[in-house]
Amino acid sequence: MTVMSIVATGTLLMALAIQFKIHLANEWQQYNPVTSAQLPKKGDSILVFAPHSDDETLGCAGMIGTAEKAGANVHVALITNGDGFRVAVGRAYKTIKITPQRCIEFAYKRQKETLRALSIMGVGPERVTFFGYPDRGIAKLWDQYWTRDSLYLSRATGSNHSPYTNAFTWRAPYCGDSLLRDVVRLIEECRPTDIYLPHPLDNHQDHYATYCFVTAAVEQLMAEHHDFATKIRVHTYLVHRGDWPVPKGDHSNEPLSPPYALTGGDTKWFSMSLTPEIAERKRRAIKQYRTQTAVEKGFLMSFARGNEIFGSLPDRTIPLVSHSKITVDGNPSDWSSIPPSIVDPVDDYVMAGFNKGGDVRTIYLCRDDKHLYARIDYVGHLSKRISYTLNLRGISDTDSSQWYTISIKPKTKTSSVFTPWAYRNNVLETEIPLDALNLHEDLFVQVTTKLMKMTVDQTGWHGLEFGDGNKVSKAPIKTSSLPSSKAVH
Ligand SMILES: [Zn+2]
Repeated sequence: MTVMSIVATGTLLMALAIQFKIHLANEWQQYNPVTSAQLPKKGDSILVFAPHSDDETLGCAGMIGTAEKAGANVHVALITNGDGFRVAVGRAYKTIKITPQRCIEFAYKRQKETLRALSIMGVGPERVTFFGYPDRGIAKLWDQYWTRDSLYLSRATGSNHSPYTNAFTWRAPYCGDSLLRDVVRLIEECRPTDIYLPHPLDNHQDHYATYCFVTAAVEQLMAEHHDFATKIRVHTYLVHRGDWPVPKGDHSNEPLSPPYALTGGDTKWFSMSLTPEIAERKRRAIKQYRTQTAVEKGFLMSFARGNEIFGSLPDRTIPLVSHSKITVDGNPSDWSSIPPSIVDPVDDYVMAGFNKGGDVRTIYLCRDDKHLYARIDYVGHLSKRISYTLNLRGISDTDSSQWYTISIKPKTKTSSVFTPWAYRNNVLETEIPLDALNLHEDLFVQVTTKLMKMTVDQTGWHGLEFGDGNKVSKAPIKTSSLPSSKAVH
């Protein structure tokens, strides 16, 4: 055995050991109950957003059935029609020739499954909206294709517009601006008291991007002083996260709990118990998704339990501090009175288990009149082998957005943009001129760490508000700067 193969075998064994540890922690967590959720009640108006046809049922069917029974009103919106799941398309038509026409046909089939599943839970077709945006493209709409002059081309549908005759907006262009407008419009029409949407730490990119769009829409309505928007209760649900849920398959007597690692962040988890009758209807509803159970039945059926879990995230504001309070020197002592903005789960990725200097623990943010300051704490000391990226996204209204990305490489002492940064032990600090962010109301933040292009850790995208009375002055905003923002990468 060569030295290289001994190292490779050792690394593989260690990766398997970490993976097994995560699995055991999830199994253990399953029997560690979380707080009971408040049940929906008569008069509630509930709006559920699902990235794909089946997520609303996997994550929320029990809540939907419970709400309908209590006299609440439920509306469900599907962001995509799940047209990009090529394996399932191939299985449904017993073919390896996957054409756009097939994908579109398949999507209509999935829509019918959704209508059947939801009718079992008490929701009629008049209360289901299909947006028709591209499956596997929602994160791309969020971070690359924002305006109508830069549309995303879906490999599945072969189109850069929604080809569906029942899309919420006829021939909706595949861009972030259009999707955000649609989400805002539906929320305005439904005026919900409660919104259910995917958790920002869901691993699937369409899922966490759905969180971004819906959160940005709610923030926008709040900024426009829509009274109902300030009162919306936001609940998140989880579908994809590593090997969760455990165990796989139809285990109706097993409880459902959040993954162990996600109980360590700042999400507060709640469990909603389902009556045996509602749980049984949910099981039947899941089985309506024949196109999906044909390829991943064990996964789908593992959501047929006696309860559902929902996560609630804290409201986040960016505190205003006095000028010169923060010095970018890697020393966190000047942050003493500033609470954490984001607490990220640790030990949740295999790569993070190997590289603790890339495992994000806490993100602190504050600002004075000229700068936004960020302090990011890691589990271990920062590593010279890892690159550290902070993504910032300002959205103020539907046709404008501003990106700012700073990637820091301690090894070469360089960063992708010219801005002060410093690190010491497990703390990284940087400052960004507010002019560069061109913000109005809120800021979306995400941190990624990479080792040789492999992700070590990735936080969710989180929306933070500038607290009342300390908003950034309303300078005119340039219409989308997405193309030009590439220059700062
Ligand atoms: Zn999904």
